[in-house]
Amino acid sequence: MAPRLLTRLEGALTRAIPLNPIQSWLTQAVASISFDDIPFSAARVGAPILERAEIQGTFYVCGGHTGETFENRAQHEAHDLLALHQAGHEIACHTFAHPLVTKLSNTARDQDRQANANFIRDTLGDVMMTSFAYPYGAVSLAAKAYYARQFFTCRGVYRGLNTGRIDFAELRAIGIERRQHDIGQVRDRVAEAKERNAWIIFFTHDVGPDPSDYGCTPQNLEDVITTLKDAGIETLPVKAAAAKVMFG
Ligand SMILES: [Zn+2]
Repeated sequence: MAPRLLTRLEGALTRAIPLNPIQSWLTQAVASISFDDIPFSAARVGAPILERAEIQGTFYVCGGHTGETFENRAQHEAHDLLALHQAGHEIACHTFAHPLVTKLSNTARDQDRQANANFIRDTLGDVMMTSFAYPYGAVSLAAKAYYARQFFTCRGVYRGLNTGRIDFAELRAIGIERRQHDIGQVRDRVAEAKERNAWIIFFTHDVGPDPSDYGCTPQNLEDVITTLKDAGIETLPVKAAAAKVMFG
């Protein structure tokens, strides 16, 4: 069987088995906007867009990328993390080294997770990351079981809304990505989220005039924010939205 098909089957199977199901207490929709990897431009262009709209986002960091280049894009510096944290954004975990976690043993997952936790403690002081996003969105039952034990929420990249019985071990999300961005679809999804009292989570990477396939333009990000504001949907960091889902 082709490896890609096997991976897709494994993904479908993994999604079908919730490992941390939480019954939603939401009586109205809530949204989150998140950034994976934290390219330089996410911190320097993306965060100010959120701040102008008085929104706090979630930034999933790989400490191993701080001050480095990843996939040909300059990544954040340590002082960017401090600025994000001080502005009230959530600093969350995206592993230390951005591995395919599906290929790691639990011992290797422990080492990587601890490295990121130590890095954040050294950089930001007493900050505990309670939200996690899977690198490449790659999940397996074993990886999901591991990360669900370590973090309050784990976010994937499988497209969808979070509603009803929500699997906190693999939250669904919607990419704001150049390769597939369609504001009409975003508006439809936001309207559906409002209708169903769902938690709608967006994610992107770099933000700039010429973004990567996985990033977006400033206008794309502003359009999503405007759509959420027009719908009267509150946008909160993943951690705060998760608490609202869980406790009402
Ligand atoms: Zn990533």
